[in-house]
Amino acid sequence: MKDIIIVGRGLAGATLSFQLLAKGIKHHIVDQPSLSSSSKVAAGLVNPIVLKRLKMVQGAHEFMTHIPSFYQAKEVLTGFKFYHESTVRHIFANTGEINLWEEKKDNVFHSQFLKGFVQNTNPYLLAPHGLGVMEGIGWLDTNSFLNAHRFFCANNGISITEKTFTKNDLSTLVESGHLIILCNGHLLKDWEVLPENAFAPTRGEVMTIEADGLSEDNILHSSIFAIPLGEKQFKVGATYHWDKLNDMPTDDGIERLRTDLEKVYSGKYKIINHQAGVRPNTKDRKPIIGKLKDNVMVFNGMGSRAALMAPQLSNILLDYLTTGNPLPSEYNIDRFL
Ligand SMILES: Cc1cc2nc3c(=O)[nH]c(=O)nc-3n(C[C@H](O)[C@H](O)[C@H](O)COP(=O)(O)OP(=O)(O)OC[C@H]3O[C@@H](n4cnc5c(N)ncnc54)[C@H](O)[C@@H]3O)c2cc1C
Repeated sequence: MKDIIIVGRGLAGATLSFQLLAKGIKHHIVDQPSLSSSSKVAAGLVNPIVLKRLKMVQGAHEFMTHIPSFYQAKEVLTGFKFYHESTVRHIFANTGEINLWEEKKDNVFHSQFLKGFVQNTNPYLLAPHGLGVMEGIGWLDTNSFLNAHRFFCANNGISITEKTFTKNDLSTLVESGHLIILCNGHLLKDWEVLPENAFAPTRGEVMTIEADGLSEDNILHSSIFAIPLGEKQFKVGATYHWDKLNDMPTDDGIERLRTDLEKVYSGKYKIINHQAGVRPNTKDRKPIIGKLKDNVMVFNGMGSRAALMAPQLSNILLDYLTTGNPLPSEYNIDRFL
């Protein structure tokens, strides 16, 4: 094998690149910043529990054990700050949710995160059933993470070429014996290298607001979340749409965000930013990792949870590449081939 070329520098590509560098494996990156990027829009929540049903994300235990060691080590390495440990206050919609929380919070896994209840003391918050406290989760400032990665590449001789990588480039480079790792997010679907029904991309929209009446101490969660960014700014999201799979924010999207926010917040706020992106979801809701064909690998499909999954999954891929250890069947691309 000659060179390793990562195509796409979103959370998948950048995380994998960090892992390769940690093992001293040189590589090149090709990324076209003008193409669709979910990572630049993502809220970056790292949450191992689906708050709607309080179900554990499959594999969450393993994912969570890699989180501090990965992000904090990369912060030390680059001098950037991008991982923020946090607590969540979940606004209960009804007593059924309180009962479920009560029931789940004693499970061995859940008990690390789901804590007790608090009454609402914020006059602008509409939370008649109170709030559940969740600890031990975090959020990744994805743009700062990507900037840190760019900086680290520049200081470690890793080239980042800004161009659109084509199928022709793939054939030429594969013929020359290079290893290509496709980390091109939802745009992989357009390459028609996997069955169309493998993918279920979803557009998501977020807005950044300035609000005096929200607490900056916690992430607020109801049908939406509000992540405090500092200086009274909050990232609020996210919506799910299965049409218009591009990065153009819509009137419908902002309307939905406003409606959901105003169901739980009655204070004033100003919208200062509105963005859209497309999550690389798969039909079976599991990532896609593995060998597409000789000298072509895929690292993709992390849906709405790349910040949680990418550190561990990139480790698994690296292990496969360096030692030949088999990939877990639930993530293996073979299920679509
Ligand atoms: C509104 C919203 C909220 C979200 N919130 C969260 C959250 O709270 N937590 C979480 O973990 N995840 C969240 N996500 C999901 C998260 O954004 C994705 O899981 C993750 O960013 C996917 O990363 P990726 O690297 O696979 O793809 P992308 O981030 O899409 O990166 C793909 C990269 O490949 C490049 N590229 C594509 N094709 C080519 C080509 N032919 N040539 C060159 N370059 C190419 C693109 O320019 C891009 O840079 C959210 C997503 C959205 C839209």
